[in-house]
Amino acid sequence: MSEQLARGLAPGARFRCDGCGNVTRFDVVATTRTRRYHHFDLGGAGHVEDEEVLEQTVESVTCRWCGRTDAVQVESSPAGA
Ligand SMILES: [Zn+2]
Repeated sequence: MSEQLARGLAPGARFRCDGCGNVTRFDVVATTRTRRYHHFDLGGAGHVEDEEVLEQTVESVTCRWCGRTDAVQVESSPAGA
């Protein structure tokens, strides 16, 4: 199930709650392993210029409208990728 839900975080897909029809607001609990390119200036200030997700496990997706965790499905986004 979490593999299917992880697709909802990718471009071209979205979550939909079968309980109430919500497609816009969800609480997502996930563990993500990433490689990030941190770019610092000589003063030590920095920001992330690039991020690659190496591994992602979605533990739960909760609908913000009705609170259900068991009704959230993944579907194609109408906006596309
Ligand atoms: Zn809902």
